Amino acid sequence: MKSERTLREEMIRFSHLCYERHLLVAMDGNLSCVLPNGDILCTQAGCHKGLLTDEHLVVIDRQGKKLRGRGNPTSEMAMHLACYQERPDCKAIVHAHPPLAIAFTIADQSLAQCVLPEVVLTLGTVPTVAYETTGTKGLADALRPYVRNHDAVLMDRHGAVTLGTSLLDAFCKLETLEHTAKITATARSLGGIKTLPPDEAVALRSMGLKRYGGPPSAVAKADSPGADLPQACLICDGCSDPSHMGLAAPTGVSAVRVKGPGLDQVRKVVMEEVLAALKGEA
Ligand SMILES: [Zn+2]
Repeated sequence: MKSERTLREEMIRFSHLCYERHLLVAMDGNLSCVLPNGDILCTQAGCHKGLLTDEHLVVIDRQGKKLRGRGNPTSEMAMHLACYQERPDCKAIVHAHPPLAIAFTIADQSLAQCVLPEVVLTLGTVPTVAYETTGTKGLADALRPYVRNHDAVLMDRHGAVTLGTSLLDAFCKLETLEHTAKITATARSLGGIKTLPPDEAVALRSMGLKRYGGPPSAVAKADSPGADLPQACLICDGCSDPSHMGLAAPTGVSAVRVKGPGLDQVRKVVMEEVLAALKGEA
Protein backbone atom coordinates (compact mmCIF):
# COMPACT_ATOMS: atom_id res chain seq x y z
CA MET A 1 0.00 0.00 0.00
CA LYS A 2 1.40 3.39 -1.01
CA SER A 3 1.84 6.11 1.64
CA GLU A 4 -0.25 9.28 1.63
CA ARG A 5 2.86 11.23 0.68
CA THR A 6 3.41 9.08 -2.43
CA LEU A 7 -0.27 9.28 -3.38
CA ARG A 8 -0.23 13.09 -3.05
CA GLU A 9 2.76 13.21 -5.41
CA GLU A 10 0.95 10.95 -7.87
CA MET A 11 -2.20 13.14 -7.76
CA ILE A 12 -0.06 16.15 -8.73
CA ARG A 13 1.78 14.24 -11.47
CA PHE A 14 -1.34 12.80 -13.10
CA SER A 15 -3.27 16.09 -12.85
CA HIS A 16 -0.43 17.74 -14.76
CA LEU A 17 -0.38 14.91 -17.31
CA CYS A 18 -4.15 15.27 -17.92
CA TYR A 19 -3.55 18.91 -18.80
CA GLU A 20 -0.38 18.32 -20.80
CA ARG A 21 -2.05 15.53 -22.81
CA HIS A 22 -5.03 17.83 -23.63
CA LEU A 23 -7.50 15.65 -21.75
CA LEU A 24 -8.91 18.72 -19.97
CA VAL A 25 -8.46 22.51 -19.92
CA ALA A 26 -8.83 25.40 -17.47
CA MET A 27 -10.55 24.29 -14.24
CA ASP A 28 -12.03 21.13 -15.80
CA GLY A 29 -11.89 17.65 -14.38
CA ASN A 30 -11.01 16.11 -11.06
CA LEU A 31 -9.02 13.22 -9.66
CA SER A 32 -9.28 11.14 -6.50
CA CYS A 33 -7.67 8.13 -4.86
CA VAL A 34 -8.13 6.00 -1.75
CA LEU A 35 -5.71 6.65 1.12
CA PRO A 36 -4.24 3.83 3.22
CA ASN A 37 -6.84 4.40 6.00
CA GLY A 38 -9.77 4.32 3.53
CA ASP A 39 -10.36 8.08 3.37
CA ILE A 40 -10.33 9.75 -0.06
CA LEU A 41 -7.82 12.26 -1.39
CA CYS A 42 -9.33 14.49 -4.08
CA THR A 43 -8.64 17.65 -6.02
CA GLN A 44 -10.01 20.96 -4.76
CA ALA A 45 -12.96 22.64 -6.49
CA GLY A 46 -11.96 25.30 -9.02
CA CYS A 47 -8.25 24.61 -9.39
CA HIS A 48 -6.23 24.40 -12.60
CA LYS A 49 -5.01 20.82 -13.10
CA GLY A 50 -1.98 21.96 -15.07
CA LEU A 51 -0.85 24.11 -12.13
CA LEU A 52 -1.97 21.81 -9.32
CA THR A 53 0.16 21.75 -6.17
CA ASP A 54 -0.10 19.91 -2.86
CA GLU A 55 -2.22 22.68 -1.35
CA HIS A 56 -4.96 21.95 -3.91
CA LEU A 57 -5.57 18.49 -2.42
CA VAL A 58 -8.39 17.80 0.06
CA VAL A 59 -9.05 14.74 2.25
CA ILE A 60 -12.69 13.66 2.68
CA ASP A 61 -14.44 10.69 4.26
CA ARG A 62 -16.58 8.16 2.38
CA GLN A 63 -19.68 10.32 2.86
CA GLY A 64 -17.97 13.33 1.27
CA LYS A 65 -17.33 15.25 4.51
CA LYS A 66 -14.15 17.30 4.40
CA LEU A 67 -11.53 16.19 6.92
CA ARG A 68 -8.37 18.09 5.91
CA GLY A 69 -7.08 20.60 3.38
CA ARG A 70 -7.88 24.06 2.08
CA GLY A 71 -10.98 25.00 0.09
CA ASN A 72 -13.76 22.64 -0.90
CA PRO A 73 -13.53 19.21 -2.50
CA THR A 74 -14.42 19.07 -6.19
CA SER A 75 -18.07 19.86 -6.98
CA GLU A 76 -18.28 16.55 -8.86
CA MET A 77 -17.45 14.48 -5.77
CA ALA A 78 -20.85 12.72 -5.78
CA MET A 79 -19.76 11.00 -8.99
CA HIS A 80 -16.52 9.75 -7.40
CA LEU A 81 -18.29 8.57 -4.23
CA ALA A 82 -20.88 6.66 -6.30
CA CYS A 83 -18.06 4.91 -8.21
CA TYR A 84 -16.25 3.92 -5.00
CA GLN A 85 -19.53 2.64 -3.53
CA GLU A 86 -20.28 0.51 -6.59
CA ARG A 87 -16.71 -0.72 -7.05
CA PRO A 88 -14.83 -1.57 -3.84
CA ASP A 89 -11.95 -2.80 -6.04
CA CYS A 90 -11.49 0.76 -7.40
CA LYS A 91 -8.67 2.73 -5.75
CA ALA A 92 -8.45 5.76 -8.04
CA ILE A 93 -10.68 7.77 -10.38
CA VAL A 94 -9.83 10.26 -13.10
CA HIS A 95 -12.54 12.48 -14.55
CA ALA A 96 -11.60 14.65 -17.54
CA HIS A 97 -13.10 16.26 -20.62
CA PRO A 98 -11.26 14.52 -23.50
CA PRO A 99 -12.33 16.54 -26.58
CA LEU A 100 -12.59 13.85 -29.26
CA ALA A 101 -14.41 11.39 -27.03
CA ILE A 102 -16.89 14.11 -26.02
CA ALA A 103 -17.38 14.98 -29.69
CA PHE A 104 -18.51 11.39 -30.25
CA THR A 105 -21.29 11.85 -27.68
CA ILE A 106 -22.37 15.16 -29.23
CA ALA A 107 -22.49 13.56 -32.68
CA ASP A 108 -24.52 10.69 -31.19
CA GLN A 109 -21.84 8.18 -32.10
CA SER A 110 -20.95 5.27 -29.88
CA LEU A 111 -17.43 4.42 -28.69
CA ALA A 112 -18.69 1.01 -27.55
CA GLN A 113 -17.67 -0.60 -30.80
CA CYS A 114 -15.06 -3.31 -31.03
CA VAL A 115 -12.57 -1.77 -33.43
CA LEU A 116 -9.08 -2.02 -31.93
CA PRO A 117 -8.00 -5.43 -30.61
CA GLU A 118 -5.64 -3.99 -27.96
CA VAL A 119 -8.45 -1.84 -26.58
CA VAL A 120 -10.95 -4.70 -26.46
CA LEU A 121 -8.27 -6.76 -24.70
CA THR A 122 -7.23 -4.21 -22.07
CA LEU A 123 -10.20 -1.88 -21.61
CA GLY A 124 -13.33 -3.43 -23.10
CA THR A 125 -16.11 -1.29 -24.44
CA VAL A 126 -16.89 2.28 -23.40
CA PRO A 127 -20.62 2.97 -22.98
CA THR A 128 -22.17 6.45 -22.87
CA VAL A 129 -24.41 7.55 -20.02
CA ALA A 130 -27.41 9.68 -21.03
CA TYR A 131 -27.20 13.39 -20.30
CA GLU A 132 -27.59 14.60 -16.73
CA THR A 133 -26.55 17.93 -15.22
CA THR A 134 -22.94 18.01 -14.08
CA GLY A 135 -22.24 17.74 -10.35
CA THR A 136 -25.72 16.40 -9.51
CA LYS A 137 -26.85 13.29 -7.66
CA GLY A 138 -28.80 12.47 -10.84
CA LEU A 139 -25.56 12.10 -12.79
CA ALA A 140 -23.90 10.09 -9.98
CA ASP A 141 -26.88 7.70 -9.89
CA ALA A 142 -26.99 7.40 -13.67
CA LEU A 143 -23.36 6.28 -13.63
CA ARG A 144 -23.86 3.49 -11.08
CA PRO A 145 -25.15 0.68 -13.34
CA TYR A 146 -22.43 1.42 -15.91
CA VAL A 147 -19.41 1.47 -13.62
CA ARG A 148 -20.44 -1.88 -12.13
CA ASN A 149 -19.49 -3.44 -15.48
CA HIS A 150 -17.09 -0.99 -17.10
CA ASP A 151 -13.83 0.75 -16.13
CA ALA A 152 -14.32 3.61 -18.58
CA VAL A 153 -17.58 5.44 -19.16
CA LEU A 154 -18.48 8.50 -21.24
CA MET A 155 -21.07 11.01 -20.09
CA ASP A 156 -23.15 12.64 -22.82
CA ARG A 157 -21.89 16.13 -23.71
CA HIS A 158 -19.65 16.18 -20.65
CA GLY A 159 -16.63 13.92 -20.34
CA ALA A 160 -15.14 10.63 -19.28
CA VAL A 161 -14.69 8.86 -15.98
CA THR A 162 -12.18 6.06 -15.60
CA LEU A 163 -11.70 3.70 -12.66
CA GLY A 164 -8.45 2.00 -11.75
CA THR A 165 -6.54 0.02 -9.18
CA SER A 166 -4.14 3.00 -9.09
CA LEU A 167 -3.93 6.52 -10.50
CA LEU A 168 -1.63 5.23 -13.25
CA ASP A 169 -4.20 2.57 -14.16
CA ALA A 170 -7.10 5.07 -14.27
CA PHE A 171 -4.99 7.57 -16.26
CA CYS A 172 -3.96 4.90 -18.81
CA LYS A 173 -7.62 4.04 -19.38
CA LEU A 174 -8.43 7.70 -20.01
CA GLU A 175 -5.57 8.04 -22.48
CA THR A 176 -6.63 4.83 -24.25
CA LEU A 177 -10.22 6.06 -24.50
CA GLU A 178 -9.23 9.36 -26.13
CA HIS A 179 -6.68 7.64 -28.40
CA THR A 180 -9.41 5.26 -29.55
CA ALA A 181 -11.70 8.21 -30.32
CA LYS A 182 -8.90 9.83 -32.34
CA ILE A 183 -8.19 6.70 -34.40
CA THR A 184 -11.89 6.02 -34.95
CA ALA A 185 -12.61 9.61 -36.04
CA THR A 186 -9.61 9.57 -38.40
CA ALA A 187 -10.67 6.25 -39.93
CA ARG A 188 -14.20 7.59 -40.42
CA SER A 189 -12.83 10.67 -42.19
CA LEU A 190 -10.86 8.34 -44.48
CA GLY A 191 -13.94 6.44 -45.49
CA GLY A 192 -15.24 4.33 -42.62
CA ILE A 193 -14.34 1.84 -39.94
CA LYS A 194 -14.00 -1.92 -39.90
CA THR A 195 -15.16 -3.48 -36.64
CA LEU A 196 -13.72 -6.74 -35.41
CA PRO A 197 -15.70 -9.89 -36.21
CA PRO A 198 -17.99 -10.49 -33.19
CA ASP A 199 -16.39 -13.89 -32.40
CA GLU A 200 -12.93 -12.33 -32.29
CA ALA A 201 -14.15 -9.44 -30.10
CA VAL A 202 -15.69 -11.88 -27.63
CA ALA A 203 -12.55 -14.05 -27.52
CA LEU A 204 -10.29 -11.01 -27.03
CA ARG A 205 -12.38 -9.59 -24.20
CA SER A 206 -12.52 -12.93 -22.43
CA MET A 207 -8.72 -13.25 -22.72
CA GLY A 208 -8.21 -9.66 -21.52
CA LEU A 209 -10.41 -10.02 -18.45
CA LYS A 210 -8.45 -13.10 -17.38
CA ARG A 211 -5.06 -11.59 -18.15
CA TYR A 212 -5.46 -7.97 -17.04
CA GLY A 213 -8.53 -8.04 -14.82
CA GLY A 214 -11.39 -5.55 -14.96
CA PRO A 215 -14.68 -4.99 -13.18
CA PRO A 216 -15.19 -8.01 -10.86
CA SER A 217 -18.65 -8.63 -12.36
CA ALA A 218 -17.12 -8.84 -15.85
CA VAL A 219 -14.17 -11.00 -14.71
CA ALA A 220 -16.66 -13.44 -13.17
CA LYS A 221 -18.35 -13.68 -16.58
CA ALA A 222 -15.12 -13.92 -18.59
CA ASP A 223 -15.99 -17.40 -19.82
CA SER A 224 -19.59 -16.63 -20.70
CA PRO A 225 -20.42 -15.32 -24.17
CA GLY A 226 -19.77 -11.64 -24.56
CA ALA A 227 -18.34 -10.94 -21.09
CA ASP A 228 -18.84 -7.18 -20.67
CA LEU A 229 -19.30 -6.49 -24.36
CA PRO A 230 -22.66 -5.07 -25.44
CA GLN A 231 -24.74 -8.20 -25.91
CA ALA A 232 -25.75 -7.10 -29.38
CA CYS A 233 -22.08 -7.66 -30.40
CA LEU A 234 -22.80 -11.36 -30.33
CA ILE A 235 -25.30 -11.02 -33.11
CA CYS A 236 -24.34 -7.89 -34.98
CA ASP A 237 -22.55 -7.90 -38.28
CA GLY A 238 -20.17 -5.03 -37.80
CA CYS A 239 -21.84 -2.24 -35.84
CA SER A 240 -23.16 -0.73 -39.06
CA ASP A 241 -25.65 1.39 -37.18
CA PRO A 242 -24.38 1.85 -33.64
CA SER A 243 -26.68 3.72 -31.33
CA HIS A 244 -25.43 6.36 -28.99
CA MET A 245 -25.71 4.06 -25.98
CA GLY A 246 -23.46 1.41 -27.41
CA LEU A 247 -26.00 -1.07 -28.67
CA ALA A 248 -25.65 -1.95 -32.30
CA ALA A 249 -28.86 -2.65 -34.14
CA PRO A 250 -28.87 -6.26 -35.33
CA THR A 251 -30.37 -6.96 -38.73
CA GLY A 252 -34.12 -6.60 -38.69
CA VAL A 253 -34.26 -5.00 -35.25
CA SER A 254 -34.79 -1.29 -34.73
CA ALA A 255 -32.28 0.62 -32.63
CA VAL A 256 -33.60 1.77 -29.27
CA ARG A 257 -32.32 4.46 -26.94
CA VAL A 258 -32.65 3.44 -23.34
CA LYS A 259 -31.65 5.37 -20.28
CA GLY A 260 -30.11 4.04 -17.05
CA PRO A 261 -30.75 0.62 -15.51
CA GLY A 262 -33.47 -0.21 -18.05
CA LEU A 263 -30.71 -0.85 -20.56
CA ASP A 264 -29.68 -4.09 -18.87
CA GLN A 265 -33.25 -5.30 -19.00
CA VAL A 266 -33.52 -4.52 -22.71
CA ARG A 267 -30.24 -6.31 -23.39
CA LYS A 268 -31.51 -9.36 -21.52
CA VAL A 269 -34.79 -9.42 -23.45
CA VAL A 270 -33.06 -8.91 -26.82
CA MET A 271 -30.56 -11.66 -26.02
CA GLU A 272 -33.30 -14.10 -24.99
CA GLU A 273 -35.22 -13.37 -28.19
CA VAL A 274 -32.17 -13.89 -30.34
CA LEU A 275 -31.11 -17.11 -28.65
CA ALA A 276 -34.67 -18.41 -29.05
CA ALA A 277 -34.63 -17.46 -32.75
CA LEU A 278 -31.24 -19.11 -33.28
CA LYS A 279 -32.45 -22.28 -31.59
CA GLY A 280 -35.46 -22.29 -33.87
CA GLU A 281 -33.21 -22.08 -36.94
CA ALA A 282 -30.85 -24.87 -35.79
ZN1 LIG B 1 -16.75 17.37 -15.54
